Amino acid sequence: MTKISNLGVVDTLEGLNKKEFSSVEVIKEYLNLIENDSKLNAYIHFNAEKSLSSAKLSDERRSKNEALPLDGLPIAVKDIFCVNGEKTSACSKILENFIPNYESTVTSKLWKAGGIYIGKTSMDEFAMGSSNETSYFGSVVNPWSKEGDKLVPGGSSGGSASAVAAKLAPVALGTDTGGSIRQPASFCGTVGIKPTYGRCSRWGIIAFASSLDQAGPLTRSVRDSALVLENMAGFDNLDSTSVNIKVPKFTDACSKSIKGMKIGIPKEYKISGLSSEVENIWNDGIKWMEDAGAEIVEVTLPHTKYALPTYYIVAPAEASANLARYDGVKYGFRKENIQDLEDMYSSTRAEGFGEEVKRRILIGTYVLSAGYYDAYYLRAQKVRTKIVEDFNLAFNNCDAILTPTAPTGAFKIGEKNMDPITMYMNDIFTVPASLAGLPAMSIPSGLNSNGCPLGLQLIGKGFDEETLFSIGAAVENAANFQSI
Ligand code: GLN
Repeated sequence: MTKISNLGVVDTLEGLNKKEFSSVEVIKEYLNLIENDSKLNAYIHFNAEKSLSSAKLSDERRSKNEALPLDGLPIAVKDIFCVNGEKTSACSKILENFIPNYESTVTSKLWKAGGIYIGKTSMDEFAMGSSNETSYFGSVVNPWSKEGDKLVPGGSSGGSASAVAAKLAPVALGTDTGGSIRQPASFCGTVGIKPTYGRCSRWGIIAFASSLDQAGPLTRSVRDSALVLENMAGFDNLDSTSVNIKVPKFTDACSKSIKGMKIGIPKEYKISGLSSEVENIWNDGIKWMEDAGAEIVEVTLPHTKYALPTYYIVAPAEASANLARYDGVKYGFRKENIQDLEDMYSSTRAEGFGEEVKRRILIGTYVLSAGYYDAYYLRAQKVRTKIVEDFNLAFNNCDAILTPTAPTGAFKIGEKNMDPITMYMNDIFTVPASLAGLPAMSIPSGLNSNGCPLGLQLIGKGFDEETLFSIGAAVENAANFQSI
């Protein structure tokens, strides 16, 4: 019999439908793998009792022929989504013991579709990072690491990417503010999509930068990604930026031919510092698209070089406002033996937040402060508009844009975490789509000379995830990437 954990989303559901195994068996196999994993540190919590009792209910539904679209499917959840009754900390000491008594909209949609909570995955603290090294619960290891050479899984959804790549879950949820689904997907050889801003509700997701945050799935195939997204997207009146637009059947788009589609190659992404291996994979991608009948066109996104500095003003500014609520009064950690109220605030925050989070809060409050607001924050907003306009113009000439996801493959744990600027450079290709609110997907496309995965990124028009799924499936077909 096939090992259940080797199956992705679609195949697990097919096996369940054909009664090859029960949901209880599926869940038991994953719980066993998660419990015995001593290498990756991808999960920080699980709740066997809760998962097994949901699995029993799922099996009952199936036996009565009342199976829901994702019935019995285990889903790992990044620790940034509130799950009712489960510790939700955003991997920060300040929220270490926070247990929400409500459920995020995205997870509740998935449970209503029959999905089963299998555990919480690690992440960079408050989703700030590109290597999963800032998690309060320790670094996560990339399953592609070679003996004695531990590599990062990327971040901030590093636990989710590592879990899916190592077959400790068929799917895991992530969030992406500036690349946190796509870059770890690229580093771990998984598919990751950041939908259009407004496609998935942000309600019940711990906020980092509210004008950028979006939820999305990490999976081992494009079709798996489409099926999960279909079940988590949709309008929610609890999120004022949620857009009331029909959710298409993304799975149908996966088998659509890309013949005649126009795929844009932005010349500004050919930066110095791009590894030649990454450039080669990009060229392979161009060739695959031509072979599949698409037309390649050069496009220009002239403000690309300002995207990273703009992001690192806008995101910290919003973060500094969002994180002001963690002051020891209402939630989580509070410093003991304090002298007065002010001491409680400052000591709680000084001890409760990690170094990277404090750096972001300092940058954020600085760029928002009187005297600097116009020079930094307001300016960054204007540049953001220019970046949006660049994409609008480019999309007059193409259906989607193809770029590398990240300038390099996975690096070693400890290699970049002392130098924030080097770390921020990881996001150079992912932040422009984030600033413009556009959907973007990373598809595993090959290996570098270290034997580590490299992903290609597709950026689409707003609310046109379908085109990304069609082209993504074509990339996947041509790349024939083998998971571990
Ligand atoms: N790496 C980026 C940052 O540190 C993006 C993080 C994210 O998308 N959550 O801000």
